[in-house]
Amino acid sequence: MIAPAIKIEDDVDLSRSYVEGEEVDFDEDVTHEFKGHRNLGYEEMPNFVKYDNSGRPTRQPLSKAICSFLNSVFGGVIYCGVTDEGKVKGLLMLRCQRQHFRLAVEDLLSNRFTPPVPKERYHLKFVPMQSHVDNPLLLAEQDPLMEHEFRTSLYCKCDKAAEMLASGREHLPKVVMEIHIEPPPEVKENQILARDTIRHLEEGTLTQWPLCKHPRIYCDQMGDAYIRTHALDRIISETTLIQLQFDRSAQFYQPISDFYQTLTDEQKRALPVNID
Ligand SMILES: [Zn+2]
Repeated sequence: MIAPAIKIEDDVDLSRSYVEGEEVDFDEDVTHEFKGHRNLGYEEMPNFVKYDNSGRPTRQPLSKAICSFLNSVFGGVIYCGVTDEGKVKGLLMLRCQRQHFRLAVEDLLSNRFTPPVPKERYHLKFVPMQSHVDNPLLLAEQDPLMEHEFRTSLYCKCDKAAEMLASGREHLPKVVMEIHIEPPPEVKENQILARDTIRHLEEGTLTQWPLCKHPRIYCDQMGDAYIRTHALDRIISETTLIQLQFDRSAQFYQPISDFYQTLTDEQKRALPVNID
């Protein structure tokens, strides 16, 4: 797929930096994922990637972790350019490649995930290596109106342009690309709803028992839905989905129900809504 040539705002975050070769001070867990590569989907896996007996690549595409974080109540961050052991390696991503990536993520999440993911749920940050904050190549502009090709393992024009610029140079600027996935808006809405319900119970003005809101479940471009458990991306079956929604409902109603139990019989009877 070829994206039309458009100019995109660049977004290197110069307020922060990583130190190449150092370890980051957190581990892979329910909200953090490290990736040593930037392959978004299966079709972008380079030829050298190995496949297991079931035909699946041994390298996991970013799309799987993105899907997991979208379906998890905490959201999460994927760090591309940090090894599985947490060591900062960085990726060579010049301006045109960063633009490519921004468009490719949008293509994946708006056109290939179902339902389409709203833009408020994700953003990218490119954070330079400390030793390259002042490197003029970091922000150097190649062709600002370059066409980009996605959904393929072939080199895009932007990669070739970057390679040409890089050839023969010793100090090339690298970045860690962070893909931030925001928690589902329903999480915040439920928190407010639960708090308001308890306040209404307290004041004796509850007119309606609240309804727990369930976040949308997103499927990736292969039609699979994942969820994050510890540091793993687990596929969601129909049974896990029912269990998940049951657990989330229980978590939502427990504090409200606990508070209701503290009311006297008289207070309960005085409520404008019949809860028992
Ligand atoms: Zn490109």
